[in-house]
Amino acid sequence: MHNLVAGLIKFRTQDFEEHKNLFCKLKRRQEPHTLFIACSDSRVVPELITKSLPGELFVVRNIANMIPVFKQSHEFHESSTSATSSAIEYAVKVLKVKNIIICGHSNCGGCSSIYLPDDVLSEIPATKKWLEQAENVKKRVTEELKENDKANDLEMREWLTEQMNIVEQIRHLLTYPFIEEKYNNKELDIMGMYYTIETGEVFMFNAQKGAFELAN
Ligand SMILES: [Zn+2]
Repeated sequence: MHNLVAGLIKFRTQDFEEHKNLFCKLKRRQEPHTLFIACSDSRVVPELITKSLPGELFVVRNIANMIPVFKQSHEFHESSTSATSSAIEYAVKVLKVKNIIICGHSNCGGCSSIYLPDDVLSEIPATKKWLEQAENVKKRVTEELKENDKANDLEMREWLTEQMNIVEQIRHLLTYPFIEEKYNNKELDIMGMYYTIETGEVFMFNAQKGAFELAN
């Protein structure tokens, strides 16, 4: 805890002073250009890897950067999924962001957890429920590995799951009518992004090619 407090003091006396004008400008309003949906993983730092300043990214983070499928507001919403849904709604309808980035990453504990045996998952019931949102991904990855005789290739399973999950979550995003409309009218851009922790490389999803391509 001591380090965190020391960090706060350092921020206030150094970084804050350096960006004082920016913080004053942000006093009353925010106009983020991008809704950034990322995993809660401590190694993924959206502002750091995109070189963004305060006020630029509206960030939603959860386990394995997932997006609940749209449900009408009168339907029952579980609190865990409505936290993400309401942030998406607010970013798009109120803040009117121009871009949505879904950022997955290498060595994602959330993505690998979807393969954990039931008795292990039952110890973490809230996480188990949350991970059900990647059921389709699990099914498709398992089938693809089997077809290619790679059922035991855990490394391939890992990145295939992480990347396929990003594409699946883009699909979930488009179930929101207000997102689909803006996306079709080209008022909103949606990007899938895969970040590799140990190399700093970022791969962007090319929807035409159906593949991730190195961006940096
Ligand atoms: Zn993760």
